Amino acid sequence: MTEAARFRAINVGNIDSLPEWQALDPDLRRAVRVVAAVLPFRTNQYVVEELIDWDKVPEDPIFQLTFPQQGMLSAQDFATMADLIDGGAERPVIDEAANRIRATLNPHPAGQMTHNVPEFECGPVDGIQHKYRETVLFFPNRGQTCHAYCTFCFRWAQFVGPKELRFGTDDTELVGSYLKAHPEVTDVLITGGDPLIMKTRVLRRYIEPLLKIEHLTSIRIGSKAVAYWPQRFVTDDDADDLLRLFEEIVAAGKHIALMGHYTHPVELRPGVARRAAKRIVSTGANIRMQSPVLRHINDDPDDWAHLWRSGVRLGCIPYYMFIVRDTGARSYFEVPLADAHAIFRRAYRQVSGLSRTVRGPSMSATPGKIRVAGTAEVSRQKVFVLEYLQARAPDRVGIPFFAEYDENAAWFDELRPLQEQDRWLFEDGSPRPKHPAQTIPIEMVRGRPPRDHRPERSSRKGMKAP
Ligand SMILES: *Cc1c(COP(=O)(O)O)cnc(C)c1O
Ligand code: SF4
Repeated sequence: MTEAARFRAINVGNIDSLPEWQALDPDLRRAVRVVAAVLPFRTNQYVVEELIDWDKVPEDPIFQLTFPQQGMLSAQDFATMADLIDGGAERPVIDEAANRIRATLNPHPAGQMTHNVPEFECGPVDGIQHKYRETVLFFPNRGQTCHAYCTFCFRWAQFVGPKELRFGTDDTELVGSYLKAHPEVTDVLITGGDPLIMKTRVLRRYIEPLLKIEHLTSIRIGSKAVAYWPQRFVTDDDADDLLRLFEEIVAAGKHIALMGHYTHPVELRPGVARRAAKRIVSTGANIRMQSPVLRHINDDPDDWAHLWRSGVRLGCIPYYMFIVRDTGARSYFEVPLADAHAIFRRAYRQVSGLSRTVRGPSMSATPGKIRVAGTAEVSRQKVFVLEYLQARAPDRVGIPFFAEYDENAAWFDELRPLQEQDRWLFEDGSPRPKHPAQTIPIEMVRGRPPRDHRPERSSRKGMKAP
């Protein structure tokens, strides 16, 4: 594939045109089609030609990352769909069955989805989300798709569901007024989907108003384009404009961080991917690398060490290793906490201090981002040592606490606190109703923020909270 290739999405509709696909075992092709009738499937020509090693399919990590896998559905759901498809059922019949299965895969009502999901798995599009005091997440509606879809991603409900509220260009004003009313916010994290699916001139309309807000120190963009479509920074028509925008952010006295979603070291192997990283860094932007740890994809510590080393060589900064949140297909990708920690530690201990900026493995749970710091023995009992990296209640950050060790536990809500102090730390610490950490509907952002969303006044100034 030439470096200056044009973006071409691949989905069930055009996959048959790929020679790599035609050469696959028919059973495997059928399995992908069956699962793709339920869960969204989108990859692209660059991913197919440059990242997937077709001799290793189906085990190839990037095939696992972008092609629906049989194991993502229960045996029963798979059989139901397979029967319909093999039997040549009509489209509406297939869709109805698919919707029924989706409903069982996604136990969360739309409104609730956002406040638990980490930003790379991105919730619904209500506009902005303000969970941790310093950082506001911003979901521009024009950025609600991606250059390819990750099979583990929670956002599939949005990709296949009905269109949500539109976030028109005027709404940058609303976000601006919310931010101005919240001087405690230093960071805006623009996320999606993938905001870099937008043309630079559209992205610019969202970013420029932010540059005038004095108390903002940092603008972050969460993106997987660095891995799925690095041409975005190198050869796309507006690649240079994008880099110029980054330079303007720096010139305006703010930090720009690209939260680069790198999942596997192979994503940094193509020359165009390395050039993309170098060009981004040359603008004064940082690239911070993050990914969940996923079975079938990157559950090998050597892959992580390799990824961080490759990134550091290009000037990237390893940032987070996440634990995968309960997606519909979680059981397929799930790595128990104990194993995730072992993977983290085995990777961490083989890299230099410049890679040890990474933190993890971390769960983005309701009360905050919780790191599994390790295991220990307390009163002859084996425990997990946990720590908040971020919390809705900031006073909890940095206090180690314990949970009973459980080798199968894969999420915070499967853990039991060890003692009273820990019980407090297990709770959702949001000082409701003053600080409801949740998606803030657009109406609330309009004009003066309602009382519930105003920052708590600092007691240092001798003011009482309203
Ligand atoms: C992860 C996350 C952030 C950013 O946290 P940092 O630790 O500052 O990177 C902000 N808001 C939400 C809801 C998050 O999940
Ligand atoms: S790039 Fe991010 S938002 Fe898009 S499918 Fe992957 S994890 Fe989900």
